[in-house]
Amino acid sequence: MRISIDKDVCIGAGQCALTAPAVFTQDDDGFSELLPGREDGAGDPLVREAARACPVGAVTVHDG
Ligand code: SF4
Repeated sequence: MRISIDKDVCIGAGQCALTAPAVFTQDDDGFSELLPGREDGAGDPLVREAARACPVGAVTVHDG
């Protein structure tokens, strides 16, 4: 699994970090970023939930 965040689309709603706090955080401007070493989701089942929770669809989960 690989996670990507489209920072051009992210509006800083924070739903991803609230939903999967072990993987997502927010940078100083409030935009989503992945925690260091969590680019592969670290097997966290909440990652897909976080992608669904994003109101603007900025989080994409790539399988494989
Ligand atoms: S939920 Fe979506 S819009 Fe909100 S911070 Fe996360 S990626 Fe950005």
